[in-house]
Amino acid sequence: MPPVIAVAPCRTLPDYEESVRRAGGAPRILDYEADPVDRVVSWCAGILLPGGIDVDPARYGEAPHPTVAETSPARDEYEMALIRAALAADVPLLAICRGMQILNVAAGGTLVQDIPSQITTLVPHAVNVPKHAIAHEVWVTPDSLLWALMRESIEAGDALKVNSRHHQSVRRPADGFKVTATAPDGIVEAIERTGSRFCLGVQWHPENFWRSGEFRPLFEGFVAACTK
Ligand code: MN
Repeated sequence: MPPVIAVAPCRTLPDYEESVRRAGGAPRILDYEADPVDRVVSWCAGILLPGGIDVDPARYGEAPHPTVAETSPARDEYEMALIRAALAADVPLLAICRGMQILNVAAGGTLVQDIPSQITTLVPHAVNVPKHAIAHEVWVTPDSLLWALMRESIEAGDALKVNSRHHQSVRRPADGFKVTATAPDGIVEAIERTGSRFCLGVQWHPENFWRSGEFRPLFEGFVAACTK
């Protein structure tokens, strides 16, 4: 039986579901009402936190920047409770884009609210179309989980080519987390929790590459960790 991967709901589920399936997992979309978080961590083999709208800056003690227009209290609350339950139970977590941001906030870290107006950079972090367009490279920390998973694709020592559709990023990593990839401008592109079975956040969208398979090792590593 393939391991059941709980996927938090979002507006663009098909690519996440297909990426999990192709890595040997069985995705199951969560429902805020029907799936209380305590029960989710007891029946699932792992949790995938997908992309989406901004986390409410109040969650990390800041007033919203004008570009933070839309937030979802229900989503923030459910995902933060889910993350805390998963970390406490050491359930494997793969967190993508907003998923990585709320993972960091739930664990006590902060975010850059708007890269274009708050960070001086020429790196294109908002290349929206097509979804799998390579936007920039990230520099991966040797001997990290990300490094181990993606080493076949890492070029020129530490460079990995990624897509990019975000205006926010991790600012201060939460205690217990380390940054394991940055863009050339210093923007945080991956975080990992040391000591967990599998707890990885990436700022790009590996799920958009399921047809060509560039990031299949990332999903396969996640599903393998969920199988143990
Ligand atoms: Mn980026």
